[in-house]
Amino acid sequence: MRDVLEGRAQPSGIVLVVDELGFHQGTSVAEFAADSGCVVTICTPGMIVGQDLGITLDFEGWNQRAHHKGITQLTDVVPMGCEAVEVGKLAVTLLHHPTGQSSRFVADWVVSSAHQRPEDELWKELADSGIEVHRVGDVLAPRRAHSAVIEGERVGLSL
Ligand SMILES: Cc1cc2nc3c(=O)[nH]c(=O)nc-3n(C[C@H](O)[C@H](O)[C@H](O)COP(=O)(O)OP(=O)(O)OC[C@H]3O[C@@H](n4cnc5c(N)ncnc54)[C@H](O)[C@@H]3O)c2cc1C
Repeated sequence: MRDVLEGRAQPSGIVLVVDELGFHQGTSVAEFAADSGCVVTICTPGMIVGQDLGITLDFEGWNQRAHHKGITQLTDVVPMGCEAVEVGKLAVTLLHHPTGQSSRFVADWVVSSAHQRPEDELWKELADSGIEVHRVGDVLAPRRAHSAVIEGERVGLSL
C-alpha cells in the first residue's frame, strides 16, 4: 500500500486491494488506483469496507466516491492464498467466512493494506547509546493516536 501511495509501484489493469485495517489506508489506495485508471476491487474480512471511517465522519464520502469511481467492495472475505495463474496474473483464494465458501479472484495486481513496520531508527540509535529509552506509539507499531497517549501515560507513571 505504501509503495503504491509513494510511487514505488504503479498498479495497472485489474487491482485487488486487500484491506486488513478498515481505515483510510485501504480506501485511499483503492481510490488512488482507480484514479490512475485501474479497475479496482477492495476486499475486507469485516462486514463493511472501511468500517472505522465512521469515527472520522469519512464513511459516507468514501462510499459516494467509490461508487463514482466504479470501485467494487467485497466484504466478509479472508485471503487464504495467492498463486500465479498466467503471465502477470495472480489468483487470490478468498474464503467467505460466514458460509465457508471459497472463490478465486484473478487480478493483475494485489495491493496489501496491512500493518506496517515502524520507522524506528532513532529509537535503535538511542537504545544502543546506553540512555534509558522507552518506546510508545507508532515507533512500537504504527497504529493510532490513542495508543501513543495510553502507552506514554503508562511509561510516564512508571518512571
Ligand atoms: C495520513 C494519516 C492519518 C491518520 N489519521 C488518524 C486518525 O484519524 N486518528 C488517529 O487516532 N490516528 C491517525 N493516524 C495515526 C496517528 O497519526 C499516529 O498513530 C500518531 O501520530 C502516533 O504518534 P507518535 O507520537 O507515536 O508518532 P508521530 O506522531 O509520528 O511522532 C513521531 C515524531 O518523531 C519524529 N522523528 C522520527 N524519526 C526521527 C529522527 N530520526 N529524528 C528526529 N525526529 C524523528 C517525527 O518527525 C515525528 O514528529 C493517522 C496517520 C496518518 C499517517
